[in-house]
Amino acid sequence: MKKHNFSAGPCVLPQEVFLKASEAIMDFNGSGLSLIEVSHRSKDFVEVMEKARNLALELLGLEGKGYKALFLQGGASLEFLMVAYNLLETKAGYLNTGTWSSKALKEARLFGEVIEVGSSKDENFNYIPKGYTIPDGLDYLHLTSNNTIFGTQLKKFPKVDIPLVCDMSSDIFSRQLHFSQFDLIYAGAQKNMGPAGTTLVVVKEDILGKVSREIPSMLDYKVHISKDSMFNTPAVFAVYTSMLTLEWLKNLGGIAAIEEINEKKAQLLYSEIDLNPVFEGFAKKEDRSNMNATFNLTDSKLKDTFDALWKEAGINGLNGHRSVGGYRASMYNALSLESVGVLVDVMSEMERKG
Ligand code: PMP
Repeated sequence: MKKHNFSAGPCVLPQEVFLKASEAIMDFNGSGLSLIEVSHRSKDFVEVMEKARNLALELLGLEGKGYKALFLQGGASLEFLMVAYNLLETKAGYLNTGTWSSKALKEARLFGEVIEVGSSKDENFNYIPKGYTIPDGLDYLHLTSNNTIFGTQLKKFPKVDIPLVCDMSSDIFSRQLHFSQFDLIYAGAQKNMGPAGTTLVVVKEDILGKVSREIPSMLDYKVHISKDSMFNTPAVFAVYTSMLTLEWLKNLGGIAAIEEINEKKAQLLYSEIDLNPVFEGFAKKEDRSNMNATFNLTDSKLKDTFDALWKEAGINGLNGHRSVGGYRASMYNALSLESVGVLVDVMSEMERKG
């Protein structure tokens, strides 16, 4: 039986994507060769890379606006470093909203002065700082749109006249935003886009080439752009599967369509968390993430009963991250409303038992 997979990432992808990806492993485009045995320079794979890059820009509404899409390797974690390598000349601002922001900030400190413009560390990152001031003279401002571990999400983005960089690893393609307010967006594939192994970087070309340091080729966005994201052998399987997921999303009606479904899923789960006395939410209500819902039992003695119930219902991946504890239900694009319904039914059953 297929599980209801609430895993935080890698995570559920559309069934049709799993099927098409597995077919291509056996026979890529009827070529008699596997996707993973053909040259990445072959016509068929070059087309895949181009399609994936174009779909990413199209879905974000960034075509023809001076942006380039790249499928790189090294995860979002390498972007923590690459962003600073390519953009940080003297000082940068970082909004610290969780573990991943903190890691991004740490890497940037290797290259220049880093100003933490705001932080929610004082309350274990259960809220998004507001009303912070952004000092003058920054090379860029770095934000994390969705905090995967703590279950918070930025609803408003500051208006700035410096490059705005955003780690969207855990909510890209999930909600409509004015993506053109960002100058660089990056996201590891393994949530809303595909399997682990590739990272989408969408960058406005005119912000590059402004730092004085020499940048090693593999870490230089300009080099990857000049080679159409084929400077070295790309992660062919991850890029192909990402392309399939982006196609699936386009056929569904794009980000507007999935946003509606994501809102329904989040409303269903959060209303259960709020109404059911057995549970309490972790993140502040106004900052709750539609992707990762974090919650606890009000009575920890019920843990064994609840754990047995959700496992019996075919649910996978509900344990919270160790730095928060409790539970985390990740409701990425490919998780169905029905799966959320199954979780909510288990939670209601707990109320009857508890
Ligand atoms: N940023 C965010 C918001 C994440 O959720 C993660 C991974 N969960 C990362 C960065 C790190 O990504 P990777 O493992 O691809 O380096």
